This record gives sequence, C-alpha cells and structure tokens, in this order.
Amino acid sequence: MKPADFTYHRPSTAEQAASLLAELSDAKVLAGGQSLLPIMNMRLASPEHLVDLTAIRGLRTFTEADDQIRYGATTTHMMLEEQLVPDRTNGLLPRAASGIGYRAIRNRGTLAGSLAHADSSAEWPTIMAAVDAAVHTLSVRGTRRIPVRDLLRGFFTTALDEDEFITGVEVARFAPETRWGLYKMARKPGEFAESLAVALLRPDGAELWLGAARDVPIRLPNTEAVAESPELPDLLDAVGADTGSDGHQRQLHAVSVQRALNAAHHQEVTRV
Ligand SMILES: Cc1cc2nc3c(=O)[nH]c(=O)nc-3n(C[C@H](O)[C@H](O)[C@H](O)COP(=O)(O)OP(=O)(O)OC[C@H]3O[C@@H](n4cnc5c(N)ncnc54)[C@H](O)[C@@H]3O)c2cc1C
Repeated sequence: MKPADFTYHRPSTAEQAASLLAELSDAKVLAGGQSLLPIMNMRLASPEHLVDLTAIRGLRTFTEADDQIRYGATTTHMMLEEQLVPDRTNGLLPRAASGIGYRAIRNRGTLAGSLAHADSSAEWPTIMAAVDAAVHTLSVRGTRRIPVRDLLRGFFTTALDEDEFITGVEVARFAPETRWGLYKMARKPGEFAESLAVALLRPDGAELWLGAARDVPIRLPNTEAVAESPELPDLLDAVGADTGSDGHQRQLHAVSVQRALNAAHHQEVTRV
C-alpha cells in the first residue's frame, strides 16, 4: 500500500525544524522512517506534513564530556553497532544495536526515532531506561532535558509535546566495574523481542530491567533481590511478582532474565 498524500519538508537547522513543527498543523517528524513509513503505508497514520530531520548535520554528531556522551538524534542503529560513534558502556550499546531488525533497518533507523516511537518491545526504550539516559528536546518554547524513564508514558506514548522533537540522547559513562548482560528472546533474528532483559551489576548490587512485558519498560525489584544466585524457581516467583505475568509469559521473562544475569556475571570488565 501507499501512504496518503503529504507535504515533505527538509529543514537544514534544528531551529527551522522547530518553527515548521510549530507553524504546521498535523505535522510529524520523520527520522529513519522505519516505523513511521510502514504505519503510513498501512494508512494507520496520515499526517499532512512530514518534517525530515536527516539533513540537519548537527543531529548526527556526538558531544562528549568526562561523565557522559550525547548522541545526536539521527544517530542510526548501525552507527552505534559499528562504533562509528564512541561507546562508553563497555559494549552494551553496540551489542544492543546489532540485534535490531535487519541490516537495512539498522542503516536508517535512529536512536531517537526508536525512543520517540516508544514501542516497549524495541531495544532502545528498555536499554536507555536501564542506563538512566535522558533525551534533550527542542521546540519554539525552548529546550528540555527529559529522563527516558519519564519520557515513556505507555504504548507508543511519550511526554513529548506535538511540536517538540528530540535533538540528542545523553548516556552516562559506565563506571569501570559495571558489568552488563542483555538477552533478547525473539522467534527469529530480525524480529521484535517477546522478552528483553537487561542486567547491570555494580558493586552495590544488581539492577534489572525488562521490556516487552508491559506498555513501558519496567524495573524488577523483587528479582533484583535474588540476582546473586539466579536459580529458575526463585526467578519465576520474583519475575511473576514484578511483572504480574503467569504461565508461559512468566516462564519466558524468567528465562530471559536468567540469561541476562548469567551473561553479566560472566562478563569480563574492560576499560570504558
Ligand atoms: C521489519 C522491521 C523490523 C524491526 N525490528 C526491530 C527490532 O527488532 N528492534 C527494534 O528496536 N526496532 C525494530 N524496528 C524498528 C526500527 O528500529 C525503527 O527504526 C525505529 O523504531 C524508529 O526509528 P526511525 O528513526 O526509523 O523513526 P521514524 O520511523 O522516522 O519515526 C518513528 C516515530 O518517532 C517520531 N520521531 C522520529 N524521530 C524523532 C525525534 N528526533 N523527535 C521526536 N519524534 C521523533 C516520528 O514522528 C514517528 O512518530 C523494526 C522495524 C521494521 C520495519
């Protein structure tokens, strides 16, 4: 199917994009198009205007400080996978990026586009919530910094205003002793997760996050309490309490958390 007619805008600065979004009614930001265009092709959305961010050069660069790195909004999954931008998470971001869809999707799909799309089965919402990342936004009213944990409000729902867009994603540098594990359970490579577990092990304890379980990524406090020796019967009880799931779903999430934890426990720490 083909999308309904729309007018295409290609601003070259972030300020022009903000003005267009404020002036035009029924306008949508376009980034990699890997979620928006299929939705438009299926006529589930028919915005009158698309404001393409990909010609704005400043949105594809990164800036780095001692304790954090900020990726431009149109940084693609591929750029993270191939480390065309630096990684300061000891390999977590490149590994996560490499599991997203297929190569063609990773070449175009963007970090900020995935966060704005807010699909809880997708990689970036869960991972960026787990590492406590924040998005930086712009509108004609000014800039905002929104923690990803506050940005994600529900299925395909965020705290962004209609005329506001993400300009960058700030990720804190991992402490040298932080270890991580990531496990994506999907029917086959290239598909969205049925369960997505992220384990972060720090000297003061484990932090566990799960995607594809609810409408937003969730933290698993009960499961964190049994993370030191993750045996399946204990995990089943704890994951059930944390997610409210039972039966097959609970089993799926418990196994995925166990695998993420095992990966984290066995990970060697390298300098970041
Ligand atoms: C076959 C297929 C398989 C896939 N598999 C996976 C997978 O396994 N894991 C996974 O995580 N994803 C998967 N995806 C989704 C893919 O990662 C998308 O690229 C991503 O979800 C959206 O990023 P985008 O840059 O393409 O955004 P777009 O499609 O351009 O936009 C998506 C939404 O975000 C908004 N938006 C985009 N950028 C911004 C911004 N900077 N500020 C505010 N709003 C913005 C748009 O207006 C739109 O509403 C898959 C997609 C396809 C088609």
